[in-house]
Amino acid sequence: MEVQVSVWVNSRLWEIVGNPTIRNVSDRAMTDSSQVALLGLDRAELTSFVESLGEPAYRGQQLRDAVYRQRVASVEEISTLSQQLRGTLTEKGVAVGLPRIAQKFVSEDGTVRYLIEMGDGQTVETVWMPEGDGGEAGDGSEAGEQAERFVDLNPTGAEALLSEEKPIAALKRCATQNLTDQTQNQKQQQNSDQGQEQNSDLRQRQRRTQRQNQGRSTICISSQVGCAVDCQFCLTALLGVKRNLTAGEIVGQVCAVLKDQQVSPPEDRINLVFMGMGEPFLNYDNFVKAARLLVEEVGIAERRMTVSTAGIVPRIHDLGGEKIRPKLAISLNASNDALRTRLMPLNKKWNLEMLMAAAKAYPLRTREWITFEYVLLGGVNDGPENAREVVELLRGMRCKVNLIALNPGPGIEFTIPDAERVAEFQKILRESGVPAFVRRPRGRDIYAACGQLKRTVEIATAPAP
Ligand code: SAH
Repeated sequence: MEVQVSVWVNSRLWEIVGNPTIRNVSDRAMTDSSQVALLGLDRAELTSFVESLGEPAYRGQQLRDAVYRQRVASVEEISTLSQQLRGTLTEKGVAVGLPRIAQKFVSEDGTVRYLIEMGDGQTVETVWMPEGDGGEAGDGSEAGEQAERFVDLNPTGAEALLSEEKPIAALKRCATQNLTDQTQNQKQQQNSDQGQEQNSDLRQRQRRTQRQNQGRSTICISSQVGCAVDCQFCLTALLGVKRNLTAGEIVGQVCAVLKDQQVSPPEDRINLVFMGMGEPFLNYDNFVKAARLLVEEVGIAERRMTVSTAGIVPRIHDLGGEKIRPKLAISLNASNDALRTRLMPLNKKWNLEMLMAAAKAYPLRTREWITFEYVLLGGVNDGPENAREVVELLRGMRCKVNLIALNPGPGIEFTIPDAERVAEFQKILRESGVPAFVRRPRGRDIYAACGQLKRTVEIATAPAP
């Protein structure tokens, strides 16, 4: 289908006819109220756009390279365009739309939490993990590599995996780290007070870590400002949902982080997880378009991307039919309906039977498996009986389980599980042939771990006293 683009110079809004994903006003890439963004448009759309200005088609490719590969911040920086064309674009209110890094917090473990500001001032958090994690096989993380080997070497048996079982020392270490608000504030203050000198030290350290962990870096991105899914253990849920991010804003987070970290896919192997703020499947069209742009324009390998859903069942079916689709992770988090409804009220709408039916029907590709995430809450869902129920739920499925010990936060009433119970839980799964991994929490000291993304957003958007 031919894509037509017309620029409404007066209202400064684009109408892109023929592309249903960006026809809707709320879906348009946003910069500020008077600008339109290039980020979010694919190659064909960029080409149609330049042609509508009377420019040759190859200018579309130049825009694409500048926006997605060089990751320029402004039209003025696109040196492949003539001065005159840059001037025309600026006059028409066309901007790149690269979101601004408003704040940056660096964890003891190298994890970086970014507060990223969109054109309308709304903020989301994006996390850079130089050593992987994000909870996914295929993200270059230890568990991912293990599971990949597991599937490669031993598609039916669990023994190979069991022999590689790692101690859960990391979890024990973290269980003693119950952060208070006060220490968190102090650390944030310290982090932002550290001068240039320390920043360059940090950068050097990060680049060293990056080299040592080639292929393990993971970016965790947000899909919405806040979240509408009311998971009782998640800090983001306390924000409610403010709005969906556009495809350009989702991709923009990645571009901003890649630029800041000075890494460039596909030369640098980058893993990506849609596991930040928001429920990607409640912003489905923008998520799907963003995934396509990330693969086709930014150069991140499809097999290195994972999307995590709280369990929006109809969209699980839809994802299976997409041409470009990240791997699927499902937040299970409970072993029976009563418990899941208590922890994740959306279970009333899509219960475990519906969820498991969708997971079982999901068309897996070669060497692909579904990941189930299970947040362990002390004394609530972490008992051996829960583990046995999980085994029953997952029976016959090509899947693995990522166990995540609760990351605590103010306003969250649950506690971190005992390390022994976590070990026992994992053992029961593994002995029943379900690959299970205990995730190493990243960036807890800066509130960058799973379910902790909220604090800076809240601070940034709070009304002045
Ligand atoms: N909305 C999506 C993606 C964002 S949450 C989803 O629900 O899957 C990403 C993962 O973090 C989910 O598996 C979620 O269950 C987990 N999570 C949420 N809060 C957490 C917390 N406080 N501690 C540990 N993991 C948490």
